[in-house]
Amino acid sequence: MSATEQLQKRFEAVLMPNYGIPPVALVRGEGCRVTDADGKTYLDLIAGIAVSSLGYGHPALVAAVTEQAATLIHTSNLFLHEREVELAEKLVSLLGGSARVFFANSGTEANEAALKLVRRAAGPERTYYVSTVAGFHGRTSGSLALTGKPAIRDPFGPFNLDVRFVPHGDVAALREAVTDQCIAVFVEPVQGEAGVVPARPGYLAAVREICDATGAAFVLDEIQSGIGRTGHWFAHQAEGVRPDVLTLAKGLGGGLPIGACVGFGRYGTAFAKGDHGSTFGGNPVAAAAALAVLTTIEQDRLLESVTELGELLAAEITGIGHPLVAAVRGVGLWRGIQLTAPAAAHVQTRAAEAGFLVNAVTPEVVRLAPPLIITRAEILEFTRALPDILNAAARDAEEDQRR
Ligand SMILES: *Cc1c(COP(=O)(O)O)cnc(C)c1O
Repeated sequence: MSATEQLQKRFEAVLMPNYGIPPVALVRGEGCRVTDADGKTYLDLIAGIAVSSLGYGHPALVAAVTEQAATLIHTSNLFLHEREVELAEKLVSLLGGSARVFFANSGTEANEAALKLVRRAAGPERTYYVSTVAGFHGRTSGSLALTGKPAIRDPFGPFNLDVRFVPHGDVAALREAVTDQCIAVFVEPVQGEAGVVPARPGYLAAVREICDATGAAFVLDEIQSGIGRTGHWFAHQAEGVRPDVLTLAKGLGGGLPIGACVGFGRYGTAFAKGDHGSTFGGNPVAAAAALAVLTTIEQDRLLESVTELGELLAAEITGIGHPLVAAVRGVGLWRGIQLTAPAAAHVQTRAAEAGFLVNAVTPEVVRLAPPLIITRAEILEFTRALPDILNAAARDAEEDQRR
């Protein structure tokens, strides 16, 4: 039995079956490459689901985390510490000022904070939320109630929230759904878990206008799209639109768990003392990691290279002209390869065999979200290997059909 198989056996015996058994067991990483338990290396094009923005072992991130761990790991929110303040200052400045931040430990917690915040800010006449079909906001009950994926949501309901779903990008449906009794609209700029599906241009501006007209809060979930992934610090900045509440997580900590809920204007001060909290939220090590991520993106001018390399990645894949590829969607280093058959799982398996980590985000979409530090040479290494990977996956899919 291989080392991976041995670990999988131990995993299966003691971990809950909610993830299935992951096919690869990772041991270490350096740059954009990771090594598994049997010594095989992979070029990582998924970065722990758009999280490891600086790849693995980045000197700035490692230094920030080790130094902070040696100095002060935890304070709780009974005591303040400078890293948390510094990080909030940095985020507020990147967002153009006039905002306040609450720190959590994950994306779903950032959205739970947003849910409570907008409930607090709204009058009692407002009773319901609007969210989007196929949208994803997290796995805890509040965020799950807002999630437009019945298969993962409905087994755990009913929830104590009135949530109405509209198709993502459909302005007319949104206008219809949002009244002066709506508490908030929750939306992603690009639906990551639905297969990296962007809304049509102008959608966020329409959400802004509808929320302004009705007084509903505009909550933008940039948990996956934020922190440089799209070639902008935040995806909404490309549209010149500002939400009332912004949620962040994934790429923010470069792999350390941290989430943030940002309130603009009156939403920045809607929580009163005692309204919300988190024992671990904004802890010194996670905050130091996030500061290192933001500083590195800035100093290494990664936003420019994300745009350039993202375009290269999409053009190279499209250029293959493979019959299994219907389209390449997305923006920056965040792409969904829409397939012409439900072969995404095969592409993921064949890619791993060939030494590349990609993600079958839906049966027909392969998601790519590599570290923001990926190089041109690494992208070309992948796209040169892709025709063979797609050929093998297409054969696998044909075999499925014959069965
Ligand atoms: C991943 C994700 C979440 C949930 O984040 P967790 O850290 O897994 O709780 C919420 N919203 C979006 C858009 C996400 O991509």
